[in-house]
Amino acid sequence: MNAPRIGLGIDLHRLGPDRPCTLGGLVLPCDVGPIGHSDGDAILHAICDAVLGAAGLDDLGSLFPDDAAVNKDRASHEFCTAALEAITEHGLRVASIDVVVECERPKLAPHRPALRSRIGELFDLEAERVNLKGKTGEGVDAIGRGEAVRATAVVLLTDL
Ligand code: MG
Repeated sequence: MNAPRIGLGIDLHRLGPDRPCTLGGLVLPCDVGPIGHSDGDAILHAICDAVLGAAGLDDLGSLFPDDAAVNKDRASHEFCTAALEAITEHGLRVASIDVVVECERPKLAPHRPALRSRIGELFDLEAERVNLKGKTGEGVDAIGRGEAVRATAVVLLTDL
């Protein structure tokens, strides 16, 4: 058994009206949503980068460039499938995920159980091995003004 590997991922997207609020693989009820070339799911992007980073692989932006037409409005759960396939090929699996999400809207607390179980489903681990905390920006900077959402994820990988 090799030593477990840790990975860190951070992602930020601007928030705007008339966008589905796709976060953590779910569409949450909210009058703003993340703006991005793909669906803008900052939570899944941060987790994918942490997963890929822990395995010593290229980051999400290298695997799925945001200037490629094929990635326009692409559902981020497809990035999760690709990241999981990539680490499986390297004999690794996800053992735990911890995420901090900073935004003014949507309020994440009511959706925590559903988000944990959806993220667990996408990365093939039990919901109790996925944690997610929502924080506000205390009125400071773009997060505090409600203009953006930022996710920071830490992931542990172990041997398959
Ligand atoms: Mg992103």
